[in-house]
Amino acid sequence: MSKTISILGSTGSIGRQTLDVAEQLGLRVAALTANSRVGRIEEQARRFQPRLAVLTDEDAARDLAVRLADTPVRVLGGEAALEEAATLPEADTVVTAVVGMVGLRPTLAAIRARKRIALANKETLVCAGELVMDAAEACGAEIVPVDSEHSAIFQCLQGCADRREIRRLILTCSGGPFYGMTAAEVGKMTREDALRHPNWTMGPKITVDCATLMNKGLEVIEAMRLYRLPLDQVSVMIHRQSVVHSLVEFRDGALLAQLGTPDMRLPIRYALTYPERGENPAEPLDLLACPPLTFARPDREVFPCLRLAEEAAGEGGTACAVLNGANEEAVGLFLADRIGFYDIARLTAEARAAVPVTRNPSLDDVLAADAAARAYVRSRV
Ligand code: NAD
Ligand code: MG
Repeated sequence: MSKTISILGSTGSIGRQTLDVAEQLGLRVAALTANSRVGRIEEQARRFQPRLAVLTDEDAARDLAVRLADTPVRVLGGEAALEEAATLPEADTVVTAVVGMVGLRPTLAAIRARKRIALANKETLVCAGELVMDAAEACGAEIVPVDSEHSAIFQCLQGCADRREIRRLILTCSGGPFYGMTAAEVGKMTREDALRHPNWTMGPKITVDCATLMNKGLEVIEAMRLYRLPLDQVSVMIHRQSVVHSLVEFRDGALLAQLGTPDMRLPIRYALTYPERGENPAEPLDLLACPPLTFARPDREVFPCLRLAEEAAGEGGTACAVLNGANEEAVGLFLADRIGFYDIARLTAEARAAVPVTRNPSLDDVLAADAAARAYVRSRV
């Protein structure tokens, strides 16, 4: 059970919900970090009195330092300061709730400092999953997933000491806002359409990833890394209701699932209280009021990003870092109204074809692959 936490990305969707849970559980907060949202992090710092607040944007950090001058909170700016926030000695747990590859270095720093990682930042595991998992094993740092599907699997695997008992993992997928449409219809969808997710309210990048199904592809890779399973033991099932958060099929044919309301505070809470479960004031899922639960196969023609991610997962090496870097860059361009919806998949596929894959990559190889993929996408737009 965590007692003192640091949050990387405290102003975002996961970060804010983590603070709600921390308040309910009576946890102390050692460090808060964000990119540039001065007003929001100031309010959080006043409420939670951390020792350290970091903004990676240097100008915003100077502004924050002035605003917090009447408090004992120390303020730092710049990306390197994320590593300081991730390694403060008084924190036992680091919640990685930043979006994107920027989470990689601070996550590795927190692992070396033997913190529990409550991991939401899936891009880090996608790009450098083997490095991260090996470092965690070598340092004895626990990684507890926050992503709802991976938390469901983590919960279903409690008491399963031998991974050979697993036949396969089944990740459920809402299908996103464009489920059931033809490719011609999906191709006309705009930024506003993509940002309307049926079941969850999340940051803009992951919301677009849910519309393309890249999010599910990234989650396949995330599951392969977390549970050290090959691609053919991780499958995806469309489940529109987002009630069954994922399942494990064991070799005797038994299926275990975790069900709940679509509320990220539940997996966040479990990552913080694990291996215990705390009292939760929220209403649990009402099975009698629940819609009928349905399951279907995903359509990899209409949603090619899922297939692209699975191909990268099968290839290994730096292929997933290229996939992720290209996708992050393309989603940024889509959110800026610079490219269309299917350009995300097209540019990601082109970057994968253009950037060579390195086997058994070092951290520098991963960072180089990410940079090459981003540069490629920018060069095409
Ligand atoms: P968000 O956009 O709402 O918040 C992102 C946070 O990261 C903000 O605090 C922002 O300040 C910070 N940030 C962004 N760019 C940064 C940079 N360059 N340097 C430093 N900090 C930066 O995102 P979110 O929806 O909270 O998602 C966060 C992570 O959690 C993502 O990896 C996402 O895939 C994962 N996740 C989110 C949800 C969800 O329900 N929101 C569910 C599962 C997994
Ligand atoms: Mg998820």
